[in-house]
Amino acid sequence: MAQEKSQPTDQAWATQRRLEDLLAKLGEKYGDLAGRVEVRHRPSTTFDQIGGLTAAKAGIRGFATVLANPELYRRWGITPPKGVLLYGPPGTGKSLLALALATISEATFFQLKLRNLTSKFGPNTADLLQEILAIAVGESRVVIFLDEVDALSLEHLLPPAEAPEASARLVAAVAEKLDGIEDFARVFVVAATSRTDAVDPSLVAPGRLDRIIEVPLPDPQAQQEIFLLKKAQTEQNAGRRLFADLDFRSILPPMGGMSGAEIQEVIRRALETKVQGAGAGEEVGLVTTQDLLQEIDGYRRIKEVVEKIRYGQYL
Ligand code: ADP
Repeated sequence: MAQEKSQPTDQAWATQRRLEDLLAKLGEKYGDLAGRVEVRHRPSTTFDQIGGLTAAKAGIRGFATVLANPELYRRWGITPPKGVLLYGPPGTGKSLLALALATISEATFFQLKLRNLTSKFGPNTADLLQEILAIAVGESRVVIFLDEVDALSLEHLLPPAEAPEASARLVAAVAEKLDGIEDFARVFVVAATSRTDAVDPSLVAPGRLDRIIEVPLPDPQAQQEIFLLKKAQTEQNAGRRLFADLDFRSILPPMGGMSGAEIQEVIRRALETKVQGAGAGEEVGLVTTQDLLQEIDGYRRIKEVVEKIRYGQYL
């Protein structure tokens, strides 16, 4: 599949710089925001680059009108929704969906990584959020992505006896900020979580993030779709064929239960093995079904450890 390579205009670069400068200034006040807050003026991720997720894609696409033409809601006598909660296992494409919404809506994308933010700022995260929202709503169209919104529970930060109260205050402050976003403001909030049990119900109350979309693990057909997208992407990056003809009837069963991110990882590992072979002066061919089966097997053996480290269960 052809991957879109958009050429940012001078104006887009200038806006991107301006927003980064604003965040850098905020960083001077609060401490480094790198890895906690990211902003992308006009992202380029499209829905075509997301495999499977037919229902979730259709669901989130529908919100483009909130950003592009909120007046339509007025004409039908209602106010636009403020935001949506995406839930599902890690690495299933929640961030991609939020990005793709920003892309089709020609919106600026603000990503707030709430686990990293709350780890540093704890209950004071709300003050910072307020300042970021003030910058964000100054843009003409904005998607605000609250990643790992369950981190507002502060469970990862405070002892069990203290977390609930501090969290309640933080959540109340965040909810207040959400309520403060004006109707028809061309601002849409996308929150994501892999832990619905830790999301405060007040965040999904009517008028807040009251739309909920499931982002499930891919079934075999979706896995094949994701695989082919990643294959096409790497082949396009390399400017040549990298994979032999593949037998998906062999590859898909052992890949059962893997997320899009894991499929990407398996492909990366298979290619890395080729790089290492080539680096050692070996004669290496294209990636075969057999190569992939080996990588899947290897990945499965260490998957549990990778997940625990990556998704913080050890923290
Ligand atoms: P989440 O936000 O659900 O944790 P991400 O959207 O950050 O997951 O996905 C991580 C990476 O995994 C993406 O950058 C992408 O390369 C890959 N990925 C995950 N799901 C999909 C999908 N459905 N289609 C294509 N790529 C995917």
